[in-house]
Amino acid sequence: MPDSYRRIVLASRPRGAVTPDNFRLETVATPVLQDGELLVRNHYLSLDPYMRGRMSAARSYAASQALDQTMIGGTVGEVVASRHAGFAVGDAVVGVLGWTELAVTDGAQLRKVDADKLPLSAYLGAVGMPGMAAWYGLNRIIKPRAGETIVVSAASGAVGSVVGQLARLQGCRVVGIAGGPAKCRYVIDELGFDACIDYKGGKLEADLAAATSDGVNGIFENVGGVMLDAALARTSAFGRVALCGLIGGFGGADMALHNARLLLINRLTVQGFIVTEHMELWDQGLTELAELVASGQVKYRETVTQGIAAAPEAFIGLLQGFNFGKQLVKLI
Ligand code: NDP
Repeated sequence: MPDSYRRIVLASRPRGAVTPDNFRLETVATPVLQDGELLVRNHYLSLDPYMRGRMSAARSYAASQALDQTMIGGTVGEVVASRHAGFAVGDAVVGVLGWTELAVTDGAQLRKVDADKLPLSAYLGAVGMPGMAAWYGLNRIIKPRAGETIVVSAASGAVGSVVGQLARLQGCRVVGIAGGPAKCRYVIDELGFDACIDYKGGKLEADLAAATSDGVNGIFENVGGVMLDAALARTSAFGRVALCGLIGGFGGADMALHNARLLLINRLTVQGFIVTEHMELWDQGLTELAELVASGQVKYRETVTQGIAAAPEAFIGLLQGFNFGKQLVKLI
């Protein structure tokens, strides 16, 4: 058992773009376990767009990350010491233990996972919170019917990639939106989307119109702004919009919707959601996703950064769209 470990704390709140000095790497002593506690060695840390919101003091759906405390974050790892009846040394566990190599916990929010069925990292992506966001938004909000057309933004990412594959499995025509030819090729060739629009090509509206000549029945929105606007312009009557994320506005971009009148004209249903408010569905959703990933029907891609010290740069890269698939930090 190491006597110390490293963690990253929030050193200051960003003023504008996130910078490396918003974070601080610390070495701390490994605490002695008390009864009812266990020690987890994290193998992977998940970096997710929602962390940007937590770094700010602005009002949101969740409390801000406290200064000088371990940055919030999903983790997967193994139990290395236990004085808890429910967990044994060697158990693989998913939790929200933060940007830290080791963590002492009472196990309250830990979930045991099967390390033989899937690679541990999958439990932070397609079979974790992002996969559940895809599952919930698609199945509970868009509720697609076979033959319908679904548009997905940030299509190569952790959430978008799963949305499109699930919709294809349900017999839908799926059109992705992603940044750059490599991501679009992957979305079509590997993930099996019917089409993918490279919004960096400069013809988003025209390209999306050409790819959705029969209209759009469902929008799974991960970005907002011009992407949502372009998709709204293509909607058919009684379309459904699952509003999952607005990463396009994180850098201060204009998020105005010029096609909002189509909400009325097409009698659209728009629903935002926060996947962690639907925990009662996670067992069902994650079981389905685990089967689909294990059988190869849902594929995923990862960008893996090595070592906790590199987490801030990787996170800043995620906020600039540098990741290609689920962004992870490998800790051991
Ligand atoms: P991704 O793995 O998709 O990574 C983010 C991607 O967003 C980037 O790679 C980039 O891809 C794309 N992007 C588009 N515009 C921008 C921009 N202006 N700045 C930065 N990136 C941009 O992330 P996730 O799949 O984890 O998350 C997708 C969305 O879902 C996010 O908005 C997130 O906040 C949201 N989310 C919401 C949840 C909920 O409960 N509501 C749960 C989980 C995620 P490209 O190069 O293609 O543009």
